[in-house]
Amino acid sequence: MNNPRPPRIALFAGSFDPFTIGHQSIVDRGLEIFDRIVIGIGVNAGKKGWLPVEERKNSIERIYTGNNRVKVIEFDCLTTEAARREEARFLLRGVRSAADFEYERTLADINRNLSGIETVLIYALPCYASVSSSVVRELASYGADIRPYLPVPPPHKEE
Ligand code: ADP
Repeated sequence: MNNPRPPRIALFAGSFDPFTIGHQSIVDRGLEIFDRIVIGIGVNAGKKGWLPVEERKNSIERIYTGNNRVKVIEFDCLTTEAARREEARFLLRGVRSAADFEYERTLADINRNLSGIETVLIYALPCYASVSSSVVRELASYGADIRPYLPVPPPHKEE
């Protein structure tokens, strides 16, 4: 009997500070390509984020409640090491602009050199190309309404 092919698992790593509708769109479209996506929140011990990591993790988990193809983790190691632990053979990233593209190429090269892992890039939908966590943080610092940029979790289902 043929061995079934191993599941295609991708690690979508980022700061997700906060997780935006742009990130959500990359995950949703990535699920058309991959069997499972692990959303990995990269934690840097020396760098305090805007939102506490636990809060970022909880809010992403709420969005994907009931979707057993999506998992959320935190990691404080090399991205390639986090991918190895999760048995992810691919890294998933989003590209909004030429600047993103150049940056992602460097990361993809480094990660491929480190571990042979391939990076799969998905272009941002035009409607999300200007959405970034940093813009959301900036707007929030002036008290602007940031809800249009944040995913809406599915409604809570009564048992
Ligand atoms: P990092 O600090 O690693 O860049 P981010 O959380 O800012 O982490 O982004 C994670 C990934 O999501 C990156 O590949 C980034 O290019 C992508 N991304 C961010 N915002 C968007 C968006 N609006 N549309 C598509 N991809 C995006």
